[in-house]
Amino acid sequence: MTAAANSVPWEFQHPMVGEATFPVEEVRRDFPILHQQVYGHPLVYLDNAATSQKPRAVIDAISHYYERDNANIHRGVHFLSEHATEEHEAARRTVQRFLNAADKREIIFVRSATEGINLVAQTYGRKHVGAGDEVVITAMEHHSNIVPWQMLCEEKDARLRVIPINDRGELMMEELPKLLSKRTKLLAVTHVSNALGTITPLRKIIEIAHSHGVPVVVDGAQAVPHLKVDVQELDCDFYVFSGHKVYGPTGIGVLYGKRALLEAMPPYQGGGDMIRSVTFEKTLYNDLPYKFEAGTPNIGGAIGLGAAIDYVNHLGIDNIAAHEHDLLIYATEALSAIPDIRIIGTAAQKAAVISFIIEGIHPHDIGTILDRSGIAIRTGHHCAQPVMQRFRIPATARASFAMYNTRGEVDALVEGIQKVKEVFA
Ligand code: PLP
Repeated sequence: MTAAANSVPWEFQHPMVGEATFPVEEVRRDFPILHQQVYGHPLVYLDNAATSQKPRAVIDAISHYYERDNANIHRGVHFLSEHATEEHEAARRTVQRFLNAADKREIIFVRSATEGINLVAQTYGRKHVGAGDEVVITAMEHHSNIVPWQMLCEEKDARLRVIPINDRGELMMEELPKLLSKRTKLLAVTHVSNALGTITPLRKIIEIAHSHGVPVVVDGAQAVPHLKVDVQELDCDFYVFSGHKVYGPTGIGVLYGKRALLEAMPPYQGGGDMIRSVTFEKTLYNDLPYKFEAGTPNIGGAIGLGAAIDYVNHLGIDNIAAHEHDLLIYATEALSAIPDIRIIGTAAQKAAVISFIIEGIHPHDIGTILDRSGIAIRTGHHCAQPVMQRFRIPATARASFAMYNTRGEVDALVEGIQKVKEVFA
């Protein structure tokens, strides 16, 4: 444990290593975008929860695809089409191994985590949720894991129930069994909160939900870049994530679903590729995973995502997690020492996300002034307005860390915050 960790104002539960054990400077060299000046200062990119930067390997994989391999996939008899199809399917196998899914047919390529959740709501949800039924979510969800369920409940005259959170931003697990009943048809929960950094006790939640016969959809958008995810060990029914938060490109995401559930679900969108045969009388749908992949997919995006996962695997997700945790501890201690700062989200289990407010200074002002020093953070409600309502604040400033961030960058953040405070003194 680092010396700094001892004085963190609350107790974290996570193994730690010092920064020195992670080759962060080598990693930084792999990310071309990091080596630039913003307003005359070296860029300090701390907006990773919104989207992470891309290593050269991902940029190269995408340009290589468009320079050498571009063709539409499936059914093509020519060389390029067959090659592109193979690369696209190789990316699917990479994702399968990354999540430890039992079968590659359980990996559906979608546009994003948002689309994955909407897919489940519009297919499984519309089939299984009826009038008077209930869908359970939590008070720390991103809007992407609230609104699709609200839309479904509105359409079906069903009810949305919410697991509350405590003042540390942890789920009040004692409330969960009380919310589950014969009417509950689905539980949707985030793995890591983007606004608070909280890591939810997923294994326990799934166990409890399953003991009531309730399937669980997991929003893994903020988890996959930071934690080892094993969908078989978790025993989740659905798991979604976005490529762009895990060092891959935008416009590509993944829905994992247990095969038996996916097989029994109606298709999502109609179009090419999702069919086996079409007549005006009747269409027969394709097998998994293609049944859920209508139209020409984001082929280059899937290949880029595969390259991003290879990059993460090469460094080791546990090593990345340990490095980021070191930054979390270091930054938490440094920010906590600044008078008038309040950290929003002090869960015992946290990913490297720090939301904070400074008494008397609007978060947007914090973000704008930091930006002039080249420091990119995010300010606002982080698409989690109910979290802001829970803490009775309009917004927070949020610094979120990735594998390429350093303690030096945390120092720059702290220095920047001191400047912000001077402006408002
Ligand atoms: N869920 C969480 C927890 C998120 O943080 C985000 C994005 O910030 C999303 C879902 C939505 O991701 P996307 O916009 O890539 O679909």
